[in-house]
Amino acid sequence: MGLRPDEISALIKEQIKNFDNVLELKDVGSVMTVGDGVSLVHGLDSAMLGELLLFPNNVYGMVMNLDEDAVGAVLLGEESTIKEGDEVKRTGKIIEIPVGDQMLGRVVNPLGQPIDGLGEIDLTTTRPIERVASGVMTRKSVDQPLQTGITSIDAIIPIGRGQRELIIGDRQTGKTAIAIDTILNQKDQDILCVYVAIGQKNSTVAQIVEKLRQGGALEYTTIVSASASELAPVQYIAPYAGVTIAEEWLEQGKDVLIVYDDLSKHAVAYRTVSLLLKRPPGREAYPGDVFYLHSRLLERACRLNEENGGGSITALPIIETQAGDISAYIPTNVISITDGQIFLQQELFNSGFRPAIDTGLSVSRVGSAAQIKAMKQVSGSLKLELAQFAEMQAFAQFGSDLDAATKATLDHGQKVREVLKQAQYSPRLVEVQVVTLFALKHGFTKKLEVEDVNEFMDSLVENIQMTHPEYLAEIKTQKVISSELETSLKDVMEAFVEKFLKLKAKG
Ligand code: ATP
Ligand code: MG
Repeated sequence: MGLRPDEISALIKEQIKNFDNVLELKDVGSVMTVGDGVSLVHGLDSAMLGELLLFPNNVYGMVMNLDEDAVGAVLLGEESTIKEGDEVKRTGKIIEIPVGDQMLGRVVNPLGQPIDGLGEIDLTTTRPIERVASGVMTRKSVDQPLQTGITSIDAIIPIGRGQRELIIGDRQTGKTAIAIDTILNQKDQDILCVYVAIGQKNSTVAQIVEKLRQGGALEYTTIVSASASELAPVQYIAPYAGVTIAEEWLEQGKDVLIVYDDLSKHAVAYRTVSLLLKRPPGREAYPGDVFYLHSRLLERACRLNEENGGGSITALPIIETQAGDISAYIPTNVISITDGQIFLQQELFNSGFRPAIDTGLSVSRVGSAAQIKAMKQVSGSLKLELAQFAEMQAFAQFGSDLDAATKATLDHGQKVREVLKQAQYSPRLVEVQVVTLFALKHGFTKKLEVEDVNEFMDSLVENIQMTHPEYLAEIKTQKVISSELETSLKDVMEAFVEKFLKLKAKG
């Protein structure tokens, strides 16, 4: 016996009328198990992935697993007060954090709560921490430089606004130093910065905040910190919280720089969460979707076209390697997601060549689109010269009799390396970089001793700043070395070399 059509429609109408009540019931569940910062909750059939759940005593949890008869949630607060059978409510929201200019100069945790003791943060403008990255049609290619102030990067591995450039190396090789110097160099450049510290010691983060304050960089920077003592889920959401703050400025058409320090610890936090949720472990015990973890984060870095405001987010993720092994799982993942990498070598660092950038293994795939013309004019041959130097140096260790050409290459290579050495917290202006590389390129260092090169460069720049500041200004504004400027620079340098050599001869 079948149902008549009018009966069917009456039934459906009845169900639609009660739909809200049905939802209501599904919005409250109960705790099945709790432990290790993870809880299984029964009865939340319509919960969303990433949704916030409210446990008793105002403890929040985040949905990470949607199983057939339960949802798995990670707890973002103290679990000791939660027990089996407790009521759990859906909030219908994913985590939101406060954004906007009020975040400048502040240190917050990944939930957007201030941890710098400077008072409350206004919660009227907030954004959810997960979002689909900007689409292809809203973007344009990278064409503006982001000056790091570090000569070897700006000359050989240039970074453009909207690019994702990985900083990778063993522990204690100066990874954080490069990121912090880059933030310091954005003073008066109309770039806002976000520094995300994941799994670091609170004391390390405090030192970084202090350095930024001293350098006058804190006023255009936000620090998001999930220290090593935070729960794994909190560390896991930290970079998404950081990029959410950056996206608010992006949509206002501004340029933003974001540093993730570091994504190795982020991957470990995610592995912890996944294993607690009993997801199957894969390679190196990481869950299978660990690639997606970082690709969906780094895809949010972009350069928007003019119709969409023209803003940009430049991302500098950091990855720590073990014994220089860049072919491990997480390093290879992030290398393939980013537009290039700055590879730091322990041996170079120990031998005193700092920043310890291995120019052979480092690349920037966006390359020279992100350099001003003047820089291209003076830096084109550097990478090759350094490679030749490294090759000949290995070879010269065996023989003592070298021909003049080899000696000259070795000598020049050593001087190039001297110029690329740079102390921490001393970013160089692009016009200064161009002048020093110009002197190298045109052989004004030939008559100098290797150990005098840096002193020579410093006093040369000082001399030009005093006698011909217009040369530096021209490079800065015109962004190119005209043939007239080239002649004038050569004249000044020629005279200065003689003066410098005389001074040196006197002692
Ligand atoms: P970790 O793996 O612990 O995070 P890291 O790779 O981030 O380390 P840093 O903390 O940046 O390395 O630097 C390590 C040490 O090297 C610090 O003491 C720092 O002061 C020093 N250092 C970094 N860069 C330079 C530099 N260019 N010149 C001199 N010293 C430097
Ligand atoms: Mg570091």
